[in-house]
Order: sequence, then C-alpha cells, then structure tokens
Amino acid sequence: KTFDDCGFPPPLMSAITKQGYEKPTNIQCQALPIVLSGSDIIGIAKTGSGKTAAFVLPMIVHIMDQPELGKGEGPIGVICAPTRELAHQIYLETRKFAKPYGLRVCAVYGGMSKLDQFKELKAGAEIVVATPGRLIDLLKMKALTMKRATYMVLDEADRMFDLGFEPQIRSIVGQIRPDRQTLLFSATMPRKVEKLAREILSDPVRVSV
Ligand code: AMP
Repeated sequence: KTFDDCGFPPPLMSAITKQGYEKPTNIQCQALPIVLSGSDIIGIAKTGSGKTAAFVLPMIVHIMDQPELGKGEGPIGVICAPTRELAHQIYLETRKFAKPYGLRVCAVYGGMSKLDQFKELKAGAEIVVATPGRLIDLLKMKALTMKRATYMVLDEADRMFDLGFEPQIRSIVGQIRPDRQTLLFSATMPRKVEKLAREILSDPVRVSV
C-alpha cells in the first residue's frame, strides 16, 4: 500500500514526501481508508506507530471538503490528548500538513498563557489540539464555539481516563454535533474506555496493530 492509493491531493502528497514518509505504517495502512470513507474508528495503537498521521491526514481532507470553509467560526477539527507533551507533538505534526492549505492550528494546553490562547482562538482556527482541562476552561470563557466541529479525535483515551479526564471528555464531546466523525485511539481498551466508545462512536470500525 502507498500514500498514492489514498487519493490525497497534491499539496498533501508533497507535505508527506517532505516529511520523508515513503510508505504508510501498519496503522496508517489500516486506518486511512476507513477514516477517509467517513467512518468512525477505534484504533488500538501506541505512540511510535504513526497513529498521529493516521488521524491528521484525513482531518485535513475533511476540512478542505467543507463547502463553507471560509465562513463560520470555531474549529472544524478537534483533537484531545492527555498531556501537554503529547498535545505539543500532535500540534507540530498537524502544522506541517495544515501549512500548505493555510489552515490555522491552535494549541490549547497548560504551561502556556491562557490569555494568548484565548486571543488566538478568537482570531480563528480551523484546528484545535488540546488537553481536556484547558479546552474546558476556554470553552467556559467562550473563546471558541464547537458549532462547526465535525471531526473529533480522542488520542490515548486510556491515559486520559487514568488522568481522570473522563468528565471533561464527556463534556467536550457533548458540545460537538452528533453528526460528527469520531476517532478514538488507545493503547489498551479497559472496560470504561470501551463503554465511552460505545456511547460516543457510531458503528466504529476497529483496527489494531
Ligand atoms: P506517532 O506514533 O504518530 O507519534 O509517530 C511516530 C514517529 O513516526 C513520528 O516521528 C512520525 O513523524 C513518524 N512517522 C509517522 N508516519 C510515518 C511514515 N509513514 N513513515 C515514516 N515515519 C513516519
């Protein structure tokens, strides 16, 4: 399998090549066609598997497919991760693929000025990469609206549960339209994560590496 098989548009293919990604990793081979078809997914995969690109690349396609992309406000793609460090890694990877399209990526996590993040969100961002606690804070401050969000990723869901973020995750997902596409990645699937997946995903396809 190759990235060409995914039918990515030329600017995305160039960005993939520029990254030095020659062929899709195992999780990418499995997940990309499913996510690109619009289906919800449960991906059992660890960091190092290439799971980030598996959800970022289809997100860019999803956003560029929006007919009213220039209008409206609030992010279209929302990615939640358990820690600043992971959120930052995802942010860096996302920026590389968003750049050719001029899509704005906003990083929303602790350790950085909340006011700066507030201002950046107010100025507009098509993509938000967040830790759950800080995202909730900024939602309460009305820094952003989720009314346009249609692509939601929960990364390392098991770790988010371990860190006690279940209520925040439920609150965030509850603010996103039900006709969204939802992606859940986790290294393990404890019963509580399985239960959340049953509640917030619709007919998910399950893949694992
Ligand atoms: P991740 O599991 O998403 O954290 O990715 C682990 C590492 O693999 C990161 O440094 C990525 O940049 C890299 N990577 C992701 N996909 C590919 C690919 N198809 N080919 C080579 N490296 C990749």
